[in-house]
Amino acid sequence: MDCCGHEGRGSGDARFDVKKVADGVHVAVATPAYKVNSNTAIIESDDGVVIVDTHSKPSAARVIVERLSEITTAPVRYVVNTHFHWDHWHGNEVYPAAYPNAEIVTNQLTREAMVTKGLKRIQDHVRQVPREIAQLEAERAAAGAPAERARLEANVRLAASYLAEVRALKPALPTMVFERTMTLYRRDREIHLLYLGRAHTEGDVFVYLPKEKVVITGDAVIGWTPYMGDGYPEDWVATLDRLAQLDWRHMIMGHGDVAGRDWLATFRSYIHDLVDAVREQAAAGATLAEVQQRVPAKLAPTYEKPFSTYGHYRPWRQGILGNIERAYAMVS
Ligand SMILES: [Zn+2]
Repeated sequence: MDCCGHEGRGSGDARFDVKKVADGVHVAVATPAYKVNSNTAIIESDDGVVIVDTHSKPSAARVIVERLSEITTAPVRYVVNTHFHWDHWHGNEVYPAAYPNAEIVTNQLTREAMVTKGLKRIQDHVRQVPREIAQLEAERAAAGAPAERARLEANVRLAASYLAEVRALKPALPTMVFERTMTLYRRDREIHLLYLGRAHTEGDVFVYLPKEKVVITGDAVIGWTPYMGDGYPEDWVATLDRLAQLDWRHMIMGHGDVAGRDWLATFRSYIHDLVDAVREQAAAGATLAEVQQRVPAKLAPTYEKPFSTYGHYRPWRQGILGNIERAYAMVS
């Protein structure tokens, strides 16, 4: 707990580990938590700061604005959204409020997805989170072990503070979009915004810094089991192959710590092998329930351990069931 309370103004409850990735390129790695926050990439340039992704709620973005003062006095000029999921853009409103010249940038597909799906999901959250809180409270009341009670208690607090913020959200949609690529040529660096094909969503944006050999992936690559509910598992593999063709050393992912090329290879082959195994089962006439039984057993020896680095955060055994459901629907 920090000094200054957990509601309203001042430090929110989001926690970040801010570190340098290359000269003038930083990452704020979000501490895994119930009501997850995305990571933010912070890129300094001669006409201001570029921020990539804004978390699940304004108070989390405000934490980044506070932490920015430790890095630079320059204003934020561009905010890039990598995709339309709530935990990557709900904090958008903070930046134009703090920096009047800030533009919010994404590609056309992602802005459309925010309008057609993202805005509706905000209303869904307003309706659903109270039920979720009631459920957590019931679990807490029934919990025996003090550690489990404390964990559920913390989750109730996080869900309640999320609910308060999502109710008051003023969704700030992107003010600038591009079709396939957009490049910011600055005196001190080039910042490429790329569309490499469908993956975690229909419109994933990658940010690529060729000189610094850094790539920012959003949730097209993360540190734990991916969420595929809005994804295109078959296209995803080809998109990651295009990512692999770029020359880079460090990968700032949507969730989890900074990684290298070896993690991209593992992550890509997990999705590849998952699609393959599900397709084979579906072609043999297996039901979804049967596939959900067989495929985890087949893939566990290779993937359970590497996808468990973050402990019980979206455990692989649980996450893969949703992955199979999506892959099964796509190949059937
Ligand atoms: Zn996502």
